[in-house]
Amino acid sequence: MTEQTPSRTLPAGFGRAFVLTLREALEGAADDLGDLDRRAGDGDFGTNVRTAMKHFDENLEADEPSSYREYLTALYMAWLGVGGTSGPLFGMFFRDLAKAGEESGAEGDAGAADAGVPTAAQFADALAAGQATVQRYGEAKVGDKTMIDSLDPAVAALRAALEADPETSAVEALFAAEDAAVAGATATAQTTARRGRASYVGDASKGVIDPGSAAMAIVISSARAGADGSGVAHFGWIA
Ligand code: ADP
Ligand code: MG
Repeated sequence: MTEQTPSRTLPAGFGRAFVLTLREALEGAADDLGDLDRRAGDGDFGTNVRTAMKHFDENLEADEPSSYREYLTALYMAWLGVGGTSGPLFGMFFRDLAKAGEESGAEGDAGAADAGVPTAAQFADALAAGQATVQRYGEAKVGDKTMIDSLDPAVAALRAALEADPETSAVEALFAAEDAAVAGATATAQTTARRGRASYVGDASKGVIDPGSAAMAIVISSARAGADGSGVAHFGWIA
């Protein structure tokens, strides 16, 4: 096994910080996300987000997660219980994230707050696996005005940053991924939806950011915020 330099590891408690930041950010953005889906879809996305977060709270209460994998499991189970197209897709996406670093046996030291925290490279691989799963089931390509439009550039930016320079820290690489995700999401305003119920409204979706791509950018932003210890995800750009 190759030695990871300390800067490439994600901090202890990353899983908890990531998903609790995400929970706050999605709750805060739910009205705006619902608005976007009303203008460029069928309007249920805000409700779907709120339902997922309600299930998530129930899972936290019932399961008392402690490891990275347990926190991500509480999240993916919550989304799998939600309707719309986004519920199952986010559910399967977070299920792949929950498996980050699994093959290296990182889950071994259960009990500690940092049990099973993946490295930045393992997290990037898990994001890529999640993207592949979403595309396998949803059949969306880049440019179809979906969550893929922010996820794809985020994965590419994260990997590029980690591979370009061994001195780049996990947090710096995640900032690059966040910038790429937000740019990808905002660029969806220029495109016409070809997937999901937004595709039924045709060119009426033009000028409106895709809500799923915005939510995915919030996911990446929350990962960055979970890693840098700030606990604050950026989403003011949505409204
Ligand atoms: P629905 O389109 O069924 O109303 P939601 O409102 O729950 O679904 O979610 C809408 C979001 O889901 C969209 O903004 C888009 O990002 C994402 N989405 C829809 N269809 C797909 C797909 N086939 N692949 C990937 N993402 C999709
Ligand atoms: Mg919808």
